[in-house]
Amino acid sequence: MTYTSIQTLNSEKYTYQIRVAHLYGDLMNTYGDNGNILLLKYIAEKLGAATTFKIVSLGDNFKKNDYDLVFWGGGQDFEQEVIAEDLYRISSELKAYIEAEKPLLSICGGYQMLGEYYINASGKKILGTGVLPHYTKNLGNNRFIGDIETHNEEFNETYYGFENHSGITYLAGEEKPLGLVIYGGGNNPDDHSEGLHYKNTYGTYFHGPILSRNPRLAYRLIKTAILQKYPNAEISEFNSLFKNLESEQIKDYKRKVEKH
Ligand code: GLN
Repeated sequence: MTYTSIQTLNSEKYTYQIRVAHLYGDLMNTYGDNGNILLLKYIAEKLGAATTFKIVSLGDNFKKNDYDLVFWGGGQDFEQEVIAEDLYRISSELKAYIEAEKPLLSICGGYQMLGEYYINASGKKILGTGVLPHYTKNLGNNRFIGDIETHNEEFNETYYGFENHSGITYLAGEEKPLGLVIYGGGNNPDDHSEGLHYKNTYGTYFHGPILSRNPRLAYRLIKTAILQKYPNAEISEFNSLFKNLESEQIKDYKRKVEKH
């Protein structure tokens, strides 16, 4: 299904065309994750790219060359169990997509399902795609809930958000965290990591939605998508277009945290 309501109008006027797959978008869209879609569209259009968004859900096929960007939102345990049965359809092409260094962002339940498995709060093991090696256990009757702040040293970027999960994730193999926790819970209670970074694939527990709070991450995803498809593209610097967007969001977060 294509979201006709949010595709770029007059797309022929744009230099680039970016096709986004929203994995299981009709089932996994917890805590306003669709706001991430709107921010991707906003950033893409400012950078000269028209966007289309297609939900790839139960019974649909996914082909790596049909998309320039993949987004997989958060979901509750129930939806995760429903989609688990369908993952065999997309796993091998999704692996090829990721290994080809194409960009992907996964949130919370989507991030968990990208990995090996998720043991939910009632102890049931739900198998993920197995495309990446991280795995998820749970905090039992507890949850990590609240504001969160992390820092990524490689990008020298700080991320701000809100988390709400009982799943606790452990990275494995060549996976790196998206950030180290400054404030909040993160992936698990043991290693101060938050989220995942592997090639141009990212995972995170941040809702909020993450991209409206952290437009640098949205910029990175769109820039990667454009340059993968149009290697000679000239992309404006982040600061020339999006600096105000970022400072407004950081101000809003800091005001909240100072009240704690
Ligand atoms: N069911 C998962 C957990 O609680 C994911 C929740 C979510 O996507 N918000 O860990």
